[in-house]
Amino acid sequence: MPYAMHSCDSLGRKYPEAAHPYRGPYQRDRDRILHCAAFRRLSQKTQVFTGTMGDYHRTRLTHTLEVSSIARTIARALRLNEDLVEALALAHDLGHPPFGHSGEEVLNECLHDFGGFNHNAQGLRICELLENSYRQLPGLNLSHEVLEGQQVRAAKHRTPNKTGGGGAGRRSPLLEVQVVDVADSIAYDAHDADDALELGLLGAADLSNVPLWREACDRVEQRSPGLGDRHRCRAIVHEMIDWQVSDVIENTIYLLAENKIANVEAVRRSAPNVSTARKLLEKKINLEQFLFDKVYRHPRVLAEREPAQRALREMFTLLVKEPEKLPAKFRRLAEGEGVPRATGDYLAGMTDRFAMDEHQRLTRR
Ligand code: MG
Repeated sequence: MPYAMHSCDSLGRKYPEAAHPYRGPYQRDRDRILHCAAFRRLSQKTQVFTGTMGDYHRTRLTHTLEVSSIARTIARALRLNEDLVEALALAHDLGHPPFGHSGEEVLNECLHDFGGFNHNAQGLRICELLENSYRQLPGLNLSHEVLEGQQVRAAKHRTPNKTGGGGAGRRSPLLEVQVVDVADSIAYDAHDADDALELGLLGAADLSNVPLWREACDRVEQRSPGLGDRHRCRAIVHEMIDWQVSDVIENTIYLLAENKIANVEAVRRSAPNVSTARKLLEKKINLEQFLFDKVYRHPRVLAEREPAQRALREMFTLLVKEPEKLPAKFRRLAEGEGVPRATGDYLAGMTDRFAMDEHQRLTRR
């Protein structure tokens, strides 16, 4: 479609490279992300629930794969650039430190006087600087449009009151970037409810007062009456995803026509077009509030925070004081970036397990 981003119009890479004989630039970007160490480490990083709580729930990696799958479905239906969407989706959470938002909070505190810490900005650092193991260039040398996803989210974080586009002088992200943002929230709303049920943090009865869940449940019961509890819950989760994806596709097709979006320049000038329709959005916001109160602040989830945060805080203090204990790569990095930032980069790259082991090793007397 003319409003899709075509790789032939790409602004290219920071360090120009010859074209590949049969893989397009965004396919190559996707492969670079998939093969980088930061991507593999997502398998042992917390999404919401830590590894010690069980093995059913999502990790940062399986969340990322769900986002990629949902985003590709939407992109294909809207005839956007699916390769670009896949690369953006696989990269979208690369910058998360160990222990999810608890880890992010501590690193932000520790780096307060040195520019702070945010997982989106960290994702950019990984892609542009820290991943340098497989070619003679800093970072992954990704295409400009793949980096845009991280840049947009990092900028949003810096100016939290100015989200969205369309305002005076503001330019909206590519539709492919918008799709990944929407897919991210569809994925976590559904899987956090699912994981919380499986972990016993919630019962199905708790969710029956949440309109989005209840309506998805009604749809499931109409279509497949008499399912047992477990199968019904699973079917509701799938229904919630399917319903939201269909709504986003229909609503976006409507908005693209309504706003006469005929090319990428029109995408840039318009407010974001990839979105959930208002009726469903209200239900979605309600579910998110419910998850925030009942799941993200559940005593069992909060109990995991304290030891994890303490480990990161203690390691930061110790390594900043004794930077010779940093691995060689980060000691070299510290020469240009300063010890605190290099220490933050080292800690942020750790998996949950490695962070706990390393904390033990560093603090053992
Ligand atoms: Mg995410």
